[in-house]
Amino acid sequence: MDPSSIPPKSYQNDQPNAPQTIVTFYNLPDHPTFMNCPWCNTNVTTQAHLKNGLLVWVIVIVLLIVCFPLAFIPCCLQSCKDVEHYCPKCSHFIGVKKRIE
Ligand SMILES: [Zn+2]
Repeated sequence: MDPSSIPPKSYQNDQPNAPQTIVTFYNLPDHPTFMNCPWCNTNVTTQAHLKNGLLVWVIVIVLLIVCFPLAFIPCCLQSCKDVEHYCPKCSHFIGVKKRIE
């Protein structure tokens, strides 16, 4: 076998399967917003999903102590909830609007 036909040994990457770094956005608006998805690199209008965040549970606990029949109210208030943004194309999580950290 002709040694010149053997390709030179390729450079060995230390981490050939290193996980791709994806930026997660915080403090996005609380409504669907137009942005570039970091996962599929497409300009999309995000899908906003409401989620009971820390603020909801803080108010629930306070209301349980003060006036427990009203404790469910924060779970019904959209303005108390965190908003998670997802890509409509690839369905990946893009970022979140947190009411409190
Ligand atoms: Zn995407």
